[in-house]
Amino acid sequence: MPNWTREKVESLDQADPLAEKRRLFHLPEGLIYLDGNSLGPRPEGVAARLTAVVEDEWGEGLIRSWNAAEWIELPQRVGAKLAPIIGARPGEVIACDSTSVNLFKVLMAALTINKGRQKIVTEAGNFPTDNYIIRSVASLSGLECLARPADQLLEAVDADTACLVLTHVNYRTGEFYDLEATTRKAHDKGALVIWDLSHSAGAMPLDLDRAGVDFAVGCGYKFLNGGPGAPAYLFVAEALHDKVEPVLSGWMGHARPFDFADDYEPAAGIDRNLCGTPGILGMAALDAALDAFADVDMEEVRRKSMQLGDLLVDLVEDQCADHGFSVISPHDATMRASQVSIAHPQGYAIMQALISKGVIGDYRDPEVMRFGITPLYLRFIDLWHAVRHLRRIMEKETWRRPEFSERHPVT
Ligand SMILES: *Cc1c(COP(=O)(O)O)cnc(C)c1O
Repeated sequence: MPNWTREKVESLDQADPLAEKRRLFHLPEGLIYLDGNSLGPRPEGVAARLTAVVEDEWGEGLIRSWNAAEWIELPQRVGAKLAPIIGARPGEVIACDSTSVNLFKVLMAALTINKGRQKIVTEAGNFPTDNYIIRSVASLSGLECLARPADQLLEAVDADTACLVLTHVNYRTGEFYDLEATTRKAHDKGALVIWDLSHSAGAMPLDLDRAGVDFAVGCGYKFLNGGPGAPAYLFVAEALHDKVEPVLSGWMGHARPFDFADDYEPAAGIDRNLCGTPGILGMAALDAALDAFADVDMEEVRRKSMQLGDLLVDLVEDQCADHGFSVISPHDATMRASQVSIAHPQGYAIMQALISKGVIGDYRDPEVMRFGITPLYLRFIDLWHAVRHLRRIMEKETWRRPEFSERHPVT
């Protein structure tokens, strides 16, 4: 561990090839934002785009804008913009619905493709919504759902496994799976694989096509900065497109929605995975937000992410030693995604005290303080200041103030 000084940290910013990207985001003055893994900040182009959609396209164009402003194609266009970020071809990704709903859709599709097999396997402690949906699907389909700890997962995948459903990055620890190797091992047993990329897309390079992934889903509002409750997306490998039998067979996934036919006929390709009318305001915000990734090399993002994460771990362990923190994210940057999680018995109150000082992270029971690492707009010096605030809060015991222990509905 180098002996960090403010000057050394500043020199990392001076050498940062991504430093210019910060200008693409609206960040409130004086705030240190370490929660872009939960809700990304607003990219600068979004406000103008939303104003244009509201005032011109909706306000003046009204229903004509479905054609004139090409609203009807937005889910495909946003999907195509997302594709290079996750290593997919443009026609393999579509923006729609929420991650939870998309997981339901692709899991039902996978079970139909792998009919006859009796098990769905996932990780115990997976992100809650994923496991709730998986269990509902299992009970709806009369299948068995096995939730296993990460180190026993692959043993549970066998010739009776229809589908392995995993979240790429563990939301508590930030540890992540080897996506390609895990996919291959599941495929060796004939299981299909669904990945939830909510905590990796936009934060690290992904190559779904090379890894041979069957299905993926993920969130638009975290590292992709699409805005609160932004549309999610789903990926289906091209080879499986025709095999998907949509269970939420809404009219937007019909081959010809405006025939108003009595019978459902699925659209070709990825389009059949749509269900109802897309929310154009949210879709337009995500579309504009993704422009921030236009000339970004994801390998560069990953390099800076690892460097930022290492610095944060070093600073906490160096400057806040003796205050009872333990870093629960992997120390090895190659095993850690774009967040650093630090456990402390008083984690909730300490996080509230930090937020009151303008350092924003979040908290997950039990004891986990999470700090999102977002290379496009985070500076190394931000982490220096954040840890100084943390140390002062511990030294002065400000976290003991009663208001910091009050629980809010969203932590
Ligand atoms: C954030 C997140 C979700 C969110 O799902 P919504 O349907 O958007 O609420 C789902 N899964 C994982 C793994 C997540 O990290």
